[in-house]
Amino acid sequence: MHELAIARHLLELTLEHAEENKATRIDQINIVIGQLSSFVDESIQFYWDMLSDDTLARGATLNFSYVPMELTCKHCQHSFSPEELAHICPQCESLALEVTAGDQCYLESIDIDTPESVGMEKV
Ligand SMILES: [Zn+2]
Repeated sequence: MHELAIARHLLELTLEHAEENKATRIDQINIVIGQLSSFVDESIQFYWDMLSDDTLARGATLNFSYVPMELTCKHCQHSFSPEELAHICPQCESLALEVTAGDQCYLESIDIDTPESVGMEKV
């Protein structure tokens, strides 16, 4: 059920940003999902639709992009992006690996309409 929590979190951030900028409409929300984060975009979309129903974000398009996982060896500093989670450094065979990318899900950017961006052409 953690997609519900992330959807709520993303919506809060979006609405906060929209309010700060006096948005009149929210067009697109760009979300980054790490390969390791185990978030399912369809589930996020599902909860998003449910939660955003009576907010300004209603009808906004969610765009998902995916980042591969990256592991870094604490021993030799080698960074690599395996297809599947690895436990051994391919360079020095150390087991001291750290996930340095791909374990998050976050809001990258939001496209909104603001009073300044709409109908500003001089007559
Ligand atoms: Zn290593």
